[in-house]
Amino acid sequence: MDTIRLNSPISEIHGTARFLPKLKRLEMRTVRDLLWHFPTRYEDWSEISSIAELGPGDTKTVQGEVISVNLVRTPRRRMFVVKALISDDSGSIAAVWFNQQYIKQSLPVGKLASFSGKAVLYKGKLVLQNPAFEIIGANSKHTGRIVPIYRETKGLTSKGIRHFVQLALERIEQIPEFVPESVLQGLDLPGIMTALRQIHFPDKRKEADQAHKSFAFRDLFLLQLKNLEEREALRNEEAHPIKYDLEDIKKFLSSLPFELTLSQKKSLWEILRDITNPHPMNRLLQGDVGSGKTIVAGIAAMMAASPPNNLQVAFMAPTEILARQHYQTLTRFFGRFGGGLALLVAKEARVFYGDGLETSAKKSQMIKDIAAGKIKIIVGTHALIQKTVTFDRLGLVVVDEQHRFGVNQRAALLRQDNLMPHLLSMSATPIPRTLMMIVFGSLDLSLITELPRGRKPIITKIVDPANRDKAYAFIRGEVRKGKQVFVVCPRIEPAEKNHESSITKQELVQLEVKTVKEEYEKLAKKVFTDLRVAMLHGKMKSEEKKKVMTAFSAGEGDILVSTSVIEVGVDVPNATIMMIEGAERFGLAQLYQFRGRVGRGEKQSFCFLFTESSNQLVHKRLNSLLTAKNGFELAEEDLKIRGPGEFLGQSQTGLPDIAMDAFQNPDLLKEAQAAARNIIGEDPELKKYPLLRERLRQFQKEVHLE
Ligand code: ADP
Ligand code: MG
Repeated sequence: MDTIRLNSPISEIHGTARFLPKLKRLEMRTVRDLLWHFPTRYEDWSEISSIAELGPGDTKTVQGEVISVNLVRTPRRRMFVVKALISDDSGSIAAVWFNQQYIKQSLPVGKLASFSGKAVLYKGKLVLQNPAFEIIGANSKHTGRIVPIYRETKGLTSKGIRHFVQLALERIEQIPEFVPESVLQGLDLPGIMTALRQIHFPDKRKEADQAHKSFAFRDLFLLQLKNLEEREALRNEEAHPIKYDLEDIKKFLSSLPFELTLSQKKSLWEILRDITNPHPMNRLLQGDVGSGKTIVAGIAAMMAASPPNNLQVAFMAPTEILARQHYQTLTRFFGRFGGGLALLVAKEARVFYGDGLETSAKKSQMIKDIAAGKIKIIVGTHALIQKTVTFDRLGLVVVDEQHRFGVNQRAALLRQDNLMPHLLSMSATPIPRTLMMIVFGSLDLSLITELPRGRKPIITKIVDPANRDKAYAFIRGEVRKGKQVFVVCPRIEPAEKNHESSITKQELVQLEVKTVKEEYEKLAKKVFTDLRVAMLHGKMKSEEKKKVMTAFSAGEGDILVSTSVIEVGVDVPNATIMMIEGAERFGLAQLYQFRGRVGRGEKQSFCFLFTESSNQLVHKRLNSLLTAKNGFELAEEDLKIRGPGEFLGQSQTGLPDIAMDAFQNPDLLKEAQAAARNIIGEDPELKKYPLLRERLRQFQKEVHLE
């Protein structure tokens, strides 16, 4: 038999021609795709029972001779029934199949065959109903063994996939092993060829488990190596060391209207310690919404931009609205900063020098001034700073609410200067610790774990349909007292992955706009006709969004309806009510973040979780929002219930499902981490492991987690 290669088109497997469109629907184009279409579960038909011991309701495998096969038609329901009589030493039983006439041809009388299925009573007699069957020969794959069950598509069942997988396994070339032998041996894991056979056709359950573990390990191992390499790469880069004067900082801190919380202080020192190094910092500052990340990052920015450092700082926000807010915060706290603090967004440029003057500038002029180093701190959106602006001496980059800003983008910011800027990312997304270690393992972490003193806990209530009117009445009362309300519309679930009619991103936005409009109509025209209701959604021009948001911030609106994706982190201290429709459709971590949009001032705030669901599990899950101490606790909970896709965006990571599942297995993670450290410690450039090095290069291209 010819061998086939992993990269061979799947059409090289005998019999696939008729199934190509179906295989394509399952994303199978090459032999590799087929072999890496791992079973989602197994059915154990390995134990063979004698016919006599079968009882009603048993699901078992029997083996026997085919005595007779008949095709009959039921008189009333006009169905075709194939009926076969099977017999072994202990007795005989009939097997029946409905509307599968072809079976008559595939079951030759006199042959020995296996049948796996459920025995049921039919007209007082025991029969096997629709059993899987197979003529007994050299390679059984559908019965009499542990049988793999796959993700299927219409017209291509597990049985068909099994058939093709077996053909592929018979002819596949020797696949090179990239995991060093010693590592596999140390962990008692099968090599790639064995793992591949055993994941599809295990002889024992244990073999399947080990094969799964081996594949999950491969990805975790690569992820760990990638993290270690990125760390190493940064250690080899040079950055401007940023000096700071302790007395200056203390003086500045005492000029603030509040005292930094303990963990703000701790985070600040961690950052300052890092940026004095001549190698780039890569640090994530994580803290709940409202925990005060901006001021911490702002102090680092100020140090970088002040003498003797005189470096530039790019301070980037995901939206214009947030960029404005950061700009305002910085000008408020750093009133006497003379180095030039600029806001640069699509349609506007303004610059502030510490003499109290704030001037609008021409964008083109500002871009020149930045390039000449005349303006030190530039606040803007990611897009702007990445595309049009060049810097004279960029020392620090601060990125708010954005993971997708990695080593490459940082390199793109390096234009005239050969040194790499320090990078501080800020995030309010509470990522579970395990996930953090695996996925963002190349980052150092600073945590702000408490909220500033004086914040009142937000009163949170789950509202079922019966209490909706009561909640509305309460909200109206609060608005009459001058408070404002955010409304988040239910999330639209994207269709199942690989579903034929899965909707595009654009259609999703359209649908979300529709829900926002409907909710807006309902609230404005039916529920709160006496109040001022506004809306915000993804299809509005940014100019328009800004107008709505500015008006709302200024108190010129009572209720703001928006989708879930819009304007995380917006600060409107007078908004004290968060109302979430279809709360059960969101992850806990996300709900937690929504809630964080209120409770920013000293006033008592409220969060209403509306749900129509009466499912106990839903209520239990929502309830944990009422009891959890912090976002991390909820994130761990979410990881258990909803899996890592909730945090990483399932289809965007480039990681196979098997690795995503393994994120919930801390033991395997630790093993992968230790193995990666050993290998890198012993051979940092993987000189002795060319295959591993090559696989790692490829992996780095495939996977995008930041
Ligand atoms: P986030 O972490 O969500 O970005 P911000 O940096 O926007 O939070 O801070 C939220 C608000 O809390 C701001 O108005 C900020 O000035 C204020 N703030 C920050 N730190 C403290 C503190 N230690 N005590 C009191 N208020 C603080
Ligand atoms: Mg913020």
